[in-house]
Amino acid sequence: METLEIPVIAGDGIGPEITKAVLRIVDAAVQQSGAKLTWIPVVAGLSALEEGSELIPQRTMDEIARCRVALKGPCTTPVGEGFTSINVKLRKAFNLYAAVRPVRSMPGVETRYKDVDLIIIRENTEGLYSGVENEVTPGVVMSMKVASEAACQRIATWAFRFANRRERKKITVLHKANIMKMTDGLFLKCAGDVHANDYPNLTFESTIIDAGCMKLVQDPSQFDVLLLENLYGDVISDLCAGLVGGLGVVPGANLGKDQAIFEAVHGSAPDIAERNLANPLALLMSSVMMLNYLAENYQAPALADAAEMIRQAYDACLINGEKTKDLGGTLGTSEFADAVIARLESGMSADNNSG
Ligand code: NAD
Repeated sequence: METLEIPVIAGDGIGPEITKAVLRIVDAAVQQSGAKLTWIPVVAGLSALEEGSELIPQRTMDEIARCRVALKGPCTTPVGEGFTSINVKLRKAFNLYAAVRPVRSMPGVETRYKDVDLIIIRENTEGLYSGVENEVTPGVVMSMKVASEAACQRIATWAFRFANRRERKKITVLHKANIMKMTDGLFLKCAGDVHANDYPNLTFESTIIDAGCMKLVQDPSQFDVLLLENLYGDVISDLCAGLVGGLGVVPGANLGKDQAIFEAVHGSAPDIAERNLANPLALLMSSVMMLNYLAENYQAPALADAAEMIRQAYDACLINGEKTKDLGGTLGTSEFADAVIARLESGMSADNNSG
């Protein structure tokens, strides 16, 4: 069988330790499935600077362009100064305009809510992430929010097609079009047009985002798929992570026409870095999304088997209390990876390993 090559950016902070754990688990599952994957380590961000390279070395860009699918750990971005976000740069460079973030209750993870099942779709290229900021006059600075009809239409079309294919029932746009009448107004209008013209079979709703936040924390089950412009997508992703156990359990994919980069929603968590404390699950779940994407788009059905094996193995671990500290468990990053691999190797479910 031909091997698929996947560039991997380990990233900064907790990035290297969770990436190491995840690659070990994915390797074990892929080997069992009979498929083949070859990791190509590439660098970006602080780790690239430490190597004496540019922030995003040309080799990193070339490998992602060539292989078309990459796995990425979190990259640190300095606050209030310094270089532009590597994450934003990569999304823009490869035109990864759709971020998809499933937020689901996990077995064995106690939270306030049960059965949360949301999908966040975030426009990834515009809004206040345009990076256009300037000083109008000393003491007055400005940041430009950009919305183009083409990009609003593109993400709305993508979101409705995705929801329809996944047999989801409803899309809700959270917006602030009462204040940002032009930018958020355009985003909302494009979503409404795509719904009316192409997907009248789905329910379409919109809510002003401040009230939407209240509704989300009161009862997340009233939402299904959330469609958001860039900054709102960023903020609401973390809010929703809080509904299901935190940032340790929310994966993500950044998808464009030609490339896809899979990464967790969380950042580089410098507060717990290099202490074997980080939960590798969000990146592992992102790699499960990646395996399913590869299976679907690269005629590699065995990778879907590997994805399912990993999912069952980590579910079994969680149900049996084998969890990292953020989820109320006692395991470190590497011990959690060992536990998932043990499940994979024994082919055991939660029931037949619970003694
Ligand atoms: P963060 O997501 O790194 O951390 C927020 C909180 O969640 C911290 O308390 C952290 O310990 C905890 N946490 C995050 N991931 C965890 C995990 N896997 N296991 C256990 N606990 C976890 O957000 P932050 O502290 O605001 O940002 C830190 C850095 O990450 C910043 O430089 C920011 O720019 C960057 N960042 C990068 C990405 C990305 O690479 N896509 C995303 C968000 C933030």
